[in-house]
Amino acid sequence: MENFIVPEGYEYIYINQSSFRTKLQSKEDVENWVHDLEEKTKVTYRITKTFLVGSKIFAKMDERAFKGENIPKNRKRKVESEARVSGNEYVTGKSMKNKPATDRQMVRDHINTFPRDESHYNRTKSEKEYLSSDLNMNRLFKAYKIKHPGTTVTYKFYRSVFLKDFPKLYFRKPRVDTCKTCDSLFLKSKSKDVIVSKQAKTHLELHQRQVENVLKAIKQDAGNRTLPESDTCTVTIDLQKVFALPKLTHTSMYYSRQLSCYNFGIHVTDTADGIMCVWHEGQSGRGGNQMASCLLQALNTGLLATYKRKLCVWSDNCAGQLKNRMLLFLYIFLVATGKFDTIDHKFLISGHSFSASDRDFVIIEKRARVSKLNNVEDVKKCIFTARPKHPFKLLDMGDFFL
Ligand SMILES: [Zn+2]
Repeated sequence: MENFIVPEGYEYIYINQSSFRTKLQSKEDVENWVHDLEEKTKVTYRITKTFLVGSKIFAKMDERAFKGENIPKNRKRKVESEARVSGNEYVTGKSMKNKPATDRQMVRDHINTFPRDESHYNRTKSEKEYLSSDLNMNRLFKAYKIKHPGTTVTYKFYRSVFLKDFPKLYFRKPRVDTCKTCDSLFLKSKSKDVIVSKQAKTHLELHQRQVENVLKAIKQDAGNRTLPESDTCTVTIDLQKVFALPKLTHTSMYYSRQLSCYNFGIHVTDTADGIMCVWHEGQSGRGGNQMASCLLQALNTGLLATYKRKLCVWSDNCAGQLKNRMLLFLYIFLVATGKFDTIDHKFLISGHSFSASDRDFVIIEKRARVSKLNNVEDVKKCIFTARPKHPFKLLDMGDFFL
């Protein structure tokens, strides 16, 4: 045993025979031995392999550059408590264990250097603030690493500081269908010309007040229907984005003429019913005449059934389809034939015209993304299965138009 040769790469640690009573003790001995070695050499070691021969331990050790934060596990707690006493505060917590407070402050300062702005689509000042839409957490962290090359801050820590210390800060999502009035007035309000800027600010304020009033009116209409004495049936109407059939993805489709399939949605606020009128361009177009026909047909077939004497229609400002004399003729006809006593048609403000019908269409489009749409029947099937809990009512307008 005495002549045992120490294998290459291993260190030989001699330990008292008496300390071999339990495994734990031997482990502690090894750690103490390593600790002493570290103190002497100023190099951090990590034991990767050990084996015993009699009273001798042979250990394979990794050398590591001596760094303040590279403290062996068993000594961490001690160092931390010492640090607290000496005033170097350590931040404790689930994801920020053992990170000094200075790191946290550096991350905070870094996040604060990015410009942010508030939403200009709302008059009421919300506390939410937005970073530019081309940023995300990963990009912020990469920028931090470029700024502080030797940093020990991890992505996880950076993210946790962002979420905990900036709860009202968001990455702006790129907006679609923005209001052109809001956008142009907002840009003008940033003008250096004081008069232009002041005028734009006033106009923007007025415009946003208008939007608020309209939204309030919709809410009021929706709320009034629940009253027992309510005599008004409120509906929202809109035409969905055209379905181009068949829905195929190979490139030759770009050179082929596709069949346009239309869907006119009537959302009944009283019952949350969605009535979807479907036809294709071979049967009829998509003008005011067709929109009026859909509404009339929904009433005639009983899909839009109501005992109430007043009708209130909400729609957007599309002149070709919903803001024209054809609908007015229909309203005159309905009142003259005694179907309703009064009919109000109210318009949303363009650019802020997201209505209940649009919400129905979002559900249908979600379903359409995963459906095979080759013909009009497929579109009908897709609409019918889009909302299983409360299926949309389908109205085939093809027969009516032909
Ligand atoms: Zn606007």
